[in-house]
Formats: sequence, C-alpha cells, structure tokens
Amino acid sequence: MFFMSNTTAQQYTLLAPTSALVVPITEVPDPVFAQNMLGLGVAFNPLGNELCAPITGKIIQCAPTAHAVTIEAAEGVELLMHFGIDTVMLKGDGITMLVKEGDWVEAGTPLIRFDRSQIEARVPSLITPIIAIGSTPLHIAYLASGSLAQGEVLAILSTEAASLSPEIQAKALPTSSDETYSIQALLALENGLHARPATKLKKMASDAQVTASLINTSGQEADVQRLTALLNLGLAAGDTVTVKVCGPNSQTVAEAMQLLLETPEGVANHSSGTDTPPLLANDITAGLFRGVTASHGLALGALRPFIFSLPTYPEEGVSIAHETSLFTEKLTQFKTQLNYAMHAAAKDTDKAAILDAHLALLDDDSLSDDCLKYIQQGKSAAFAWKTCLEERIAVFHQSNSQVIRERAADLRDLQLQLLQLLLGIPTAHKGIDPSLAGAIVVADDLTPSQMMALAHIKPAGICLAKGGATSHVSVLCRGAAIPCLVGMGPSILTLSFDLNASALLNASEGLLEANPSADRLAAIKVLMNETLKANETANQNAQLPAISLDKVHIHVAANITHGEEAQRAFSMGADAIGLFRSEFLFLDRQDSPSIEEQRLEYQAAVDGMQGKPVIIRMLDIGADKQLPWLDLGHCPNPALGIRGTRLIELHSQLITDQLEALLSVKAPLLPNGQSALQIMLPMVSDVNDVLAIRKHIELSINRLNLRQRPDFVTPQIGVMIEVPSAALMAGQLARVADFFSIGTNDLTQYTLAMDREEPKLGAKLDVLHPAVLQLIHLTCLAAQETGIPVGVCGASAGDDIAALVLAALGVTELSVETQRLASIKAKLRAANLAAIREETLTSMAFMRDGSHMRAAMRRYLGV
Ligand code: PEP
Ligand code: MG
Repeated sequence: MFFMSNTTAQQYTLLAPTSALVVPITEVPDPVFAQNMLGLGVAFNPLGNELCAPITGKIIQCAPTAHAVTIEAAEGVELLMHFGIDTVMLKGDGITMLVKEGDWVEAGTPLIRFDRSQIEARVPSLITPIIAIGSTPLHIAYLASGSLAQGEVLAILSTEAASLSPEIQAKALPTSSDETYSIQALLALENGLHARPATKLKKMASDAQVTASLINTSGQEADVQRLTALLNLGLAAGDTVTVKVCGPNSQTVAEAMQLLLETPEGVANHSSGTDTPPLLANDITAGLFRGVTASHGLALGALRPFIFSLPTYPEEGVSIAHETSLFTEKLTQFKTQLNYAMHAAAKDTDKAAILDAHLALLDDDSLSDDCLKYIQQGKSAAFAWKTCLEERIAVFHQSNSQVIRERAADLRDLQLQLLQLLLGIPTAHKGIDPSLAGAIVVADDLTPSQMMALAHIKPAGICLAKGGATSHVSVLCRGAAIPCLVGMGPSILTLSFDLNASALLNASEGLLEANPSADRLAAIKVLMNETLKANETANQNAQLPAISLDKVHIHVAANITHGEEAQRAFSMGADAIGLFRSEFLFLDRQDSPSIEEQRLEYQAAVDGMQGKPVIIRMLDIGADKQLPWLDLGHCPNPALGIRGTRLIELHSQLITDQLEALLSVKAPLLPNGQSALQIMLPMVSDVNDVLAIRKHIELSINRLNLRQRPDFVTPQIGVMIEVPSAALMAGQLARVADFFSIGTNDLTQYTLAMDREEPKLGAKLDVLHPAVLQLIHLTCLAAQETGIPVGVCGASAGDDIAALVLAALGVTELSVETQRLASIKAKLRAANLAAIREETLTSMAFMRDGSHMRAAMRRYLGV
C-alpha cells in the first residue's frame, strides 16, 4: 500500500508490523543500522510476538535463520526487515518464517513469528530496523513516534525530500490522546519485579513519552521512573498489580507493560541476569547453603558480609554551592564511567547487565533529590551520598523478595564507588574491616589481592557466591588454612548477618549452616575437638616419610606463595617445597619487585627448608593473574594467550631479571649432589618452550660468571605438564627436563575445555575425569621410562581420593597446601598403591566422567 502525492514523487507507507515502540534509527545497538551503512531506515521495538509485512509486495529474500526478510514494494524499492540484533546467532531457534521467497504479501500479512521468552535473554536487543536497500534512493517524509498498534502508520518514505501533502499528514499522524488508562497485571516474573524488568518499564514509558506507575494491592504507588520506589513495592510472582499510564496511546503502552509483567522470564533469564546459579540447590528457609570445597576445614563464627570499610569523610559540607557542584560533577562522571564500562563489556552480557542495572539505580531522580536535600542542610556530598544509600540498603534488606535483598549488594557497591570519587580516593583496597577477624566472611567474589588483604585479618572461614576450586583465591585460602566454599550462588548474599549468632561452615563437606541449633553447635564443637586431636596425631607423624603399605615412598611437599612460608612448611613435615608460585611476589603492587627483593624471597624459601629441595616456579602471569603494570595486550581468551613461559616473547627482561635473582641464591647441595634450588617452567606446550628458557639460563650463567663460583651448581630445570600437548609429548619433554610436575588445575581446564574460573562448571572440573587421568598416566609412563621424578602440584594433590589415585598412577611427589601435609601423608601410609592402581586403570576404561570415576574410587576406597 502506498500513497501518491501531487508531485511526481513516489511515496511508500510502512505500517507498524506489530504493536511497537518507535525507536530512532541512531539508537539501534548495531552501527551497521544506526549509521545507515546498509541504507536509510526506521526502527521499532516490537511488543507483540509476530512481525507482519509493513508494506505490500513480493518476498524476495528470506534468511535461512528466519531472522530477516526482504520485500520488493516496487522496482528498485526493497525493504529489509531485520528482526532484532545478532539474532542470526540463534540459527532460527525460537523464530519461525511464515512466508517463502516469491510469495506476494499484502501489508499486514504475518511474516515472522517468535517466542519472546525463548530468545529475549539470548540476544542484545529485539529492536527491529526496516532498511531501504533497493536501488531507488528514498527519504523519510514522515516518522511516527511513541507507541503504535499493529497496522498504524510507522513511516512514509518518499523518493523526494519534499514534505507531505496535508491530507496525507492528517491520515498518517497517529491520534493522540492524553487519557489515563489502567489495567491489572498478574506478575509472572519468577523472581518478582527486579531491576531488569523495572528498567524496561522505565524505558518503555520514556520511549512512549507517557507517565506510568504501578500500584500494589496495598495501594502503594510507584512511578516507573523511580527505580527504588518501584522495587520497594516488593512485588513477587503471583501478585496482582495495577499498571496506570497517562499520555498518548496510554492503552497500548499499558498493555505492553502488562505483557512484560505477565511474561515469565524463563530459566535463562534468572533473576537480574547478573547472578550465578548455585551448583547445588540451597535450602534457604532451612539456612543450608552448599558450595564447592576450595579449602577444607570446619569453622564456627558470625556471618559477616565482605565490604571494604568505607573511607572516612567530613559530615559538614564546605558550602552548599561547593557540595552541590561536587556532587553533580562526580555523579555525572560516575555515570559516564559506568556507561563506558557497560559498552566495553557489551559482549559479556552478564557484566553489561549488572552495569546497566547500576546505571538504572543511579538514574533514580529521588536518589539525587534526597542527596541534594542533605546538602541543602549543610551536609557534605559524601555524607549525603553515604546516608541516602544506607537508607535504601536498609529498605532493600527488609524486602520479602529475595531478588530485592540481593540488590542491596549493588547499592553497597555504588555507595563505595561514588564515595571514592567524591573523596578523590583511587581505591579502598586496603580498608578491610578488622572486625572480620574470626567471622565467616560472605562475598560475591574476591580478587587475589583482596583475598591476601583479608587473610591478614584471619577470618574463620570464607563463603563465595562465585569462584572455582582451583582459582587463585582458592589457592590462597588453602595456603592460609582458611576453610572456604566457592560457587555457592547469589542466595548467600541475602543471608541476614546477625553478629551474635554463630554459623557453621563445614567446608570439607561443602555445607554452610546459617542457623544451626544449639544441639548442632554442641555436636560440632565435639567434632572440631576430635578433628583437632586427629590432626595433632597426624602432625606428630608428619615428619616421618610417607611410605605406603606396599612400600612405595611418596614425597609429600608443600605449595607456598612467599619465601617466609617455607619455615612453617618445614616444621609441618614437608619433604620439599614442590611449588613456590613466584608470581604472587608480583601481585598487589605497582611495579616489578627488584632482582634483590626477589632474591631475598627465594633465599628465604631455601633457608627455611634447611637443605630440602625447593622448586621455584618462574613467573606464571596471564589469564586470571594479571598485573596492573604489565600490559599483555588485548587477548580474546587470556587463558589461551600470552602467559607463563610465553612471556619470554614479549617481556624477556622480566624473565632475565627473575633468572638472575634465582641463580644468585645460595643453595645447599642435596645428598645426590644436586642443588636444593630447582627451577620450574609453567605453561610449557612443547620442547621449544623449554629450549628457549634453557638458552636464557645459560646466557645468564655466563653473563653473571657463575661458573667461576666454586659452590655454584646449575639448578635442575623442571617442566610443568599442564596442557594436553605437553602430556601427549611427555616422552620428548622428558629428554629436556630434569623433572616433571603436573599442574592438574590447568591440565583439567585445558583437557575438558572448561574455564577453571567458571563457577557453573566447577562441579564438572574434576581431575578424576578419565580423559585427564589418561594424560597423567601417559606423563608418568614417560617419566618412568626416562628415569625422572614426576610430581603433582595442582589442588588435586591435596584431595584425599585424588592423591591416592595419582600416587597409584606413578606420581612420585604430591605437593599440597601446608595444612594438608600431615593428613595426606597419613592417607598414603594406609594405602596399597598397587591395588589402587589396578582399580584405577580398570575404572578409567569404563567411567564416563569425573563424578562417576570419583564415585567408583570412593566406593573402592570405602570413604
Ligand atoms: C596448576 O595448574 O595445577 C598449577 C599448579 O598452576 P596454577 O594453579 O598456579 O595455574
Ligand atoms: Mg597452572
């Protein structure tokens, strides 16, 4: 259908393909459309589930993935309707094409049907552009705004840039009514009304230029522009709510809002989309929360949220004018930063959604209004911000809706970030609340440097919503002997934090009991005493060698991150330091430690072990361990990028300096004449990596004239087997390595192609997966054939079941966290490794994954 004007210009009317909100083309979140790269276009946000032909014509192209269709309205006038953004990636999943190429369609004929609940969360946007891609140049003569019902005029395209005749204008322009329209909605959002749908309501009202509010059954009304007020309605799934809209097309907008509220989000759209589902079901009402064991042990203590203590600030302002302009300037700066971060995180939809929700919380006018009121009373901007956020956090905490309670953590985050900006503080990292000592600390996630700072305070235990058992935070927890569970899911952030109540963390069993009964507490205290006694007995034997029932001597070594820890490891019975993760000396600082600083650390480790071997691993930076001062360049997948020995390509000075520090250490000789100091290379893929470092070592020895020193002995050079290629080529590597150490954390990650930092995969990342065990078996066979020792220094070495399996497969050294030394030694002494080997090799051939293998070995070992 098209209108002809009085001139020779041709005009083509596009009808709204569905009930829709008109969106300026420049706001389409894809530059190809927004910048008219394909041609001139118009866009809309579909509110229905079906897209009809905007114009009469012939279908000349249907995308095989059903997300785009082109209609030829006249010769040279081709209109491409592209449903949503990046919908091609759905490969037609959830979309049905209702026509085929060659069909003639009247305007209004259904073309594409889609299942909104299935696809909405999987693509960046459903905004749909219609682009003129034909050879005839077109201009937009008219474009509707706000909301439209299906079939209303969306736009008129013209071959001339001239304006429309008045009668066409009159026909085209939508009727506007400023009437108020109210409608009831039965909330189907599984998590109640939370930030994301609330943000959508707000946007719908802005786009349609209407005012809108929701009214709960107690008569409490909240403007959709005021996010906090909206969330405070406490709307849960199953609640009835009144949607009230005032402005043009109020009925269409209200119905669109009703549709949004009545459409379940589906599992993929869980909560605010920012949360990680727990690996195992938590029973929140019973106060039982489960997670993955990152560090064994039992802990009793009050539950406390992890927050950096807020910086101090003056309560009174300098002047009203000063504080007002400071507040306005910093708030704008903060929003710009968040906006920037959100766009930078566009591909990480979870992160972008969090930032989007944060922006929406900040966009709440009532928040700035309340802050400005405090400032008007003479208070400082910092005081005003802190106080207003505190008030809102308290309200969120009291909400009946779990999702709203979870949002309190977001407010805390915003509170801290803007306070830092207002006070000109770059970071509050050092400000860990000392009262966390002795508490079970609950956090969403921690960075390694936060964890290091927290460990100094000595909390009783740690519970993280995110994280994986082999992440570096977990490594640090084990090193600090702090019981820790990770991957517990967002519900732990909603716990009530009662300072006077004790919670029980049984990290070994993966369980946090938030409200244990008095009986349970008493029983646990007895158990803790028994465990303490058992540990004492094991500790008494800790200095003895670990020789199995069938007389195999396994060295049990310790993992450390700083030189000073060696002394404790020695006193706890370590036969060696099996892994000194030297990169921890480089974290949490603004520059590289000097050669001398490094040397002192390495020397301390060697001295602390009093003549026993010390394996120092060279810098393993990259992937999850990034240094703020070291630019590794952008890499789409840092775990597969420049890390470990590969640093030599880009940062050879770092490697040369570290080698100088290592080679300058004065180390005693072992009984076999080798130096007690041994150097280990991380992330080796093949023989070339080893030869490259060996060449550097040789050059350093020559440059430092070390061969002139009578006491100098070239350290043994070990190779970490932590990527599948290294395991598969272990035979060749054994010829250039003096020893092997299997990094099971990475070997498991790379073999199974599962990110060790991804909590959703934590339960599947098991070293006992038969595929990983096959690689370990190959490595052991190659080491035995060449006669070199083979250790394991990943977390699995300290796992009761895996330790026995690994030793049975031929591993000669297990390097564990210091507090596991005595207990692993005790386990080995009670084991018949030959029998376990037979069982392991048989089960490996039949078990289909890590959990089946673990269950089989658990049954066999009777644990
Ligand atoms: C490993 O990958 O198992 C290992 C010990 O190295 P890291 O955990 O430091 O990567
Ligand atoms: Mg590793």
